[in-house]
Amino acid sequence: MYSKHLLALALAAIVAGSALIARAQTAPPAASPSGATAAEARQFLEDANRELLRLWIGASRAGWVQGTYITPDTEAMAAQANEAAVNAGTRYAKEARRFDGVTLPPQDRRQMDVLKNSLTMSAPPIPEEAEAMTRLVASMESTYGSGKYCPDNVTGDACLDIEEITKIMAESRNPERLRDVWEGWHTISVPLKKDYAAFVTLSNKGAAALGYPDTGAMWRGKYDMPPDAFARDLDRLWEQLRPLYLSLHTYVRSRLHEKYGAAVPERGPIPAHLLGNLWQQDWTNIYDVVAPAGVPPAFSLTDRLVARKMEPVEMVKVGERFFTSLGFEPLPKTFWDRSMFTKPRDREVVCHASAWDIDAVDDVRIRMCIDVNDEDFTTIHHELGHNFYQRAYGTLPMILRDSANDGFHEAVGDTLALSVTPEYLVKIGLLESAPDASADMGLLLKSALERLAFLPFGLLVDQWRWQVFSGKIAPSDYNRAWWDLKLRYQGVAPASARGDAFFDPGAKYHVPANTPYSRYFLARILQFQFHRALAREAGCTTPLHRCSIYGSRQAGQRLKAMLEMGASKPWPDALEALTGERQMDAGAMADYFAPLKTWLDEQNRGKPSGW
Ligand SMILES: [Zn+2]
Repeated sequence: MYSKHLLALALAAIVAGSALIARAQTAPPAASPSGATAAEARQFLEDANRELLRLWIGASRAGWVQGTYITPDTEAMAAQANEAAVNAGTRYAKEARRFDGVTLPPQDRRQMDVLKNSLTMSAPPIPEEAEAMTRLVASMESTYGSGKYCPDNVTGDACLDIEEITKIMAESRNPERLRDVWEGWHTISVPLKKDYAAFVTLSNKGAAALGYPDTGAMWRGKYDMPPDAFARDLDRLWEQLRPLYLSLHTYVRSRLHEKYGAAVPERGPIPAHLLGNLWQQDWTNIYDVVAPAGVPPAFSLTDRLVARKMEPVEMVKVGERFFTSLGFEPLPKTFWDRSMFTKPRDREVVCHASAWDIDAVDDVRIRMCIDVNDEDFTTIHHELGHNFYQRAYGTLPMILRDSANDGFHEAVGDTLALSVTPEYLVKIGLLESAPDASADMGLLLKSALERLAFLPFGLLVDQWRWQVFSGKIAPSDYNRAWWDLKLRYQGVAPASARGDAFFDPGAKYHVPANTPYSRYFLARILQFQFHRALAREAGCTTPLHRCSIYGSRQAGQRLKAMLEMGASKPWPDALEALTGERQMDAGAMADYFAPLKTWLDEQNRGKPSGW
């Protein structure tokens, strides 16, 4: 799912995101002030591409081993390889500025721009500090990865890891139990608070060395538009969908009130532990609680998968088949040999699903602890989307082997997941017959609990971090500010006040792992925009939510055209290649859910809305 991926940390550091701050560039002078020439620029790019590829492979291998076998040694080795990659990335990003005034062929200029804006973190100039920073990141990720909640201080089997807690959050309907494990998981991040504050300081020093006011400004600077314009664009997209979210929030709150009574207020925020997810970013798990009455139950894909005794590897095969049906080449043998599909019994691993591209060409892999359920079925499609994207751009220069912007990488697999319709499941033999249109409202509600409920969370994680990096939120306010944003955007609140000693943002993987989060928000918006365009291409005449592009070579062609562009052009060009549109548009998502909005508003009549 959206939150369950990330490219390797090193990848994020080296090549993530697209580039080209669209700050008005004046016509280049005939000769650069630095005296550099176009020939030197070419040589520089050749060196950078070769060296970054070499370090990339080293960091990816070390990162893969660390994540599939967590020990102090693998952690140290991954940190070392990562440090080398981050340092080189930082060095090249800085050196690229030497060619700012030089007239270059467009492809070389693009590479320079991508390089300059490619960093998720930038090493501080003092070597000891650079080393300290990468050590902090590796140790924060490991602390998170091996985090456990041990109720009553009992150790051993009684301790719950994130997998077990996730399961309880999803399945338990006992409010005390839910609250206990929710609070329990949020104890694992308490020791991270100090490290995180130290990391913020070091990371800002690195950003400053590159000329950015802080790390957050650096993150916002990689979207082919000025950083402030990007922030405004996110607001614009959210405003397009806020009314829809309010309708969903109102409906869900009133159904939860029916179930849990006074624990859920009739007006006001929804308690954080009752939405089926540790971070309230996905409400699918409480579908049974809020399912429409008098509407036939939506079929359960989980039940179908379990009944068929589907093995995790078979679920991945089904995902691969979707891509081959569109005209993509099957995955290489190494994918099947080297991926991690299930949780090993005898060692600590990072279960958080991720897609890898070890040699930046064909050695693609996924790392997951697959459970046989519909959520992981979707996640597999998502992770494979990364892998097929990675292969499609594998022939470009290393610097350009990336998605058009980081939201694009996350959107591709999710786009295909929208095509996992009942008709599609019938086609691949997982369902005997598709339910008729009367089941649509159930399916749409389920989809909204996943995709729409995510949006405010997808927005607030970086709202919080941008302000943390800029210093607007001081360490003493980390937790308070987090919950202020949770309230404002999501309309959720913890069951009781959370003190400043807690570090609740750190209980979300992407914070200790320093993975930017806006990409998941963008991905959510883009996936519907992509789906609308591909549905058109596939000749769908049904409403958007009933269209599957499975088997459409024509849609596949269109998709491939965009994937192969990698980061070689600004993202509006890539968006245009697939959709014919140059602006991100949340209207496609609103269209998709329009029938649900009408239905929700009928259910909500006379009920208080908002919080
Ligand atoms: Zn992903």
